[in-house]
Amino acid sequence: MTDLPGIVITGASGRMGRMLIQTVLASGKARLAGCVERPGHAWIGRDVGEAMGGAPAGVSVTDDPLAAFARAQAVIDFTAPAATVEFAALAAQARAVHVIGTTGMEPEHLAKIKAAARHAVIVRAGNMSLGVNLLVQLTKKVAAALDADWDVEVVEAHHRMKVDAPSGTALMLGQAAAEGRGVALDAVADRGRDGITGARSRGHIGFSAIRGGDIVGEHDVIFAADGERVILRHIATDRAIFARGALRAALWGQRQKPGEYDMIDVLGL
Ligand code: NAP
Repeated sequence: MTDLPGIVITGASGRMGRMLIQTVLASGKARLAGCVERPGHAWIGRDVGEAMGGAPAGVSVTDDPLAAFARAQAVIDFTAPAATVEFAALAAQARAVHVIGTTGMEPEHLAKIKAAARHAVIVRAGNMSLGVNLLVQLTKKVAAALDADWDVEVVEAHHRMKVDAPSGTALMLGQAAAEGRGVALDAVADRGRDGITGARSRGHIGFSAIRGGDIVGEHDVIFAADGERVILRHIATDRAIFARGALRAALWGQRQKPGEYDMIDVLGL
């Protein structure tokens, strides 16, 4: 049991943090080597299993990420951009694989992650599920097959607590459509419309976000032409799909050279 790769979960008390802890504990493929929360958090020093309201897991929650990372082979991190950038530097220092699910990154965050990937394996994806990564590839193919007579719109829906929009997944899908068309997404993205916007620009890729209730994640890529529409859709009903993908990435990363990878690499799609 002890020679299984050790995994640290950051943001342990978060929606994804809890799901990741359960996934690692139940996997039989990895061991839970540590759980990190921010200083002052009520879970610090407590057994993480008990803090989640279950049986003891034999791992207490710490606010010292570097000490935890140094005892592990991988870090799975679904937190917030500022925290993830800090964790990337520490994981590289500890030579641990860093799996990043955090979304809402700005260019300055991405630059720091790229720097950390010179010394360590980083797997980063706005969505870790098999289905969405398949949808990314399909979107690229369909966009390459259809010309700009087909307007592309990405519509996403998430729970009421989500803080960033469009979702990381919506941006991955928009990026895939742009790549399929051979254009830069930044040059054609319409991110949210309000007021007298004028007619839609030919070749643009639009984004719309719905927020409500406990929706785990739904994404449509709509290709709309005169007289017909093609809609590619993914519906997530369980966060376990992201956690399973992240664990797979952490195990896959053990065999890779330093660099920045995504789930398309992990899944071999
Ligand atoms: P959440 O419930 O708010 O959890 C985030 C956790 O990170 C919280 O426990 C938070 O603690 C913790 N955190 C933030 N800053 C920290 C720091 N400096 N040190 C330690 N912990 C820190 O959010 P979530 O729904 O789990 O989502 C987390 C992220 O994953 C979001 O960016 C979301 O979009 C993304 N996500 C990605 C995928 C994917 O497949 N890639 C899937 C689902 C979600 P506090 O409560 O104390 O702030």
